[in-house]
Amino acid sequence: MDRKIERIVELMIRSKNTIAVTGAGISTEAGIPDFRGENGIYRKLGENNVMKIINIDSFYKNPDKFYSFYREHFMFPPVEPSKAHYMLADMEKKGRLHGIVTQNIDNLHQKAGSKKVIPIHGNSERFVCTKRSCRHVYDRDYILNYPGTVPLCSSCGSVIKPDVVLFGEHIHNYIDARDSILRAQVLIVIGSSLTVYPLAGFVKEFSTFTQDLVIINKGRTELDHAATVKLDTGNTGDVLEKICGSL
Ligand code: NAD
Ligand code: ZN
Repeated sequence: MDRKIERIVELMIRSKNTIAVTGAGISTEAGIPDFRGENGIYRKLGENNVMKIINIDSFYKNPDKFYSFYREHFMFPPVEPSKAHYMLADMEKKGRLHGIVTQNIDNLHQKAGSKKVIPIHGNSERFVCTKRSCRHVYDRDYILNYPGTVPLCSSCGSVIKPDVVLFGEHIHNYIDARDSILRAQVLIVIGSSLTVYPLAGFVKEFSTFTQDLVIINKGRTELDHAATVKLDTGNTGDVLEKICGSL
């Protein structure tokens, strides 16, 4: 383990452009369960059953069913960033990390102080009116305190949608996310099984170059074979603290 940490530090010190790609696994230590892990919703309910409801067609066709499910399974109580989030923010301050591309919707990188964050699946703390000419923005308190299952816009009466990318929708910041990943000299994937596309595809594309891919994840990922260093751990905060302390 320590040898691998030293190797990651060496790579980061030599690199002029290091980018992190983060997934649900970086937020489990903050108290938000991932989807595919032991307590994950896919394990409990089945991936297909979740996809059938958390998709854009179902949102418009049956907002009542969508919001009943969303309120029960996706409205997490507010949590603080974990040590791992703070360590990435510190690395950026030290000039050793040049950006984060994240699949997470929890806003915890930004809360920890990271400035260069590219979120591709949106922000679960924001809710936006679906009427094009309105687009009024609401926070989670409005949704939680709304006297009905389906929250409606207070200015135009249209349905409000969580500002997250549902199945069947395009990701946000596609070009920026891909560019950022492909331009990296060292790419560090943290807490992602690399099964969700298109992000996993960007990392796969990166891995065909002669640049260095580092993977820090509990359990296997789809690109372990292509990694210069693969570190299998659930103590991501401690690992990142050691790395950050040596930079
Ligand atoms: P995933 O569920 O596919 O993979 C998470 C990976 O992290 C797993 O391999 C798991 O073993 C690993 N992991 C769990 N705890 C860890 C820890 N402490 N340290 C290191 N690794 C750990 O997640 P994904 O690839 O990010 O994709 C799931 C999708 O669900 C994404 O699209 C994301 O938007 C969404 N999601 C987001 C959140 C969030 O915002 N916090 C939470 C759940 C799901
Ligand atoms: Zn409106």
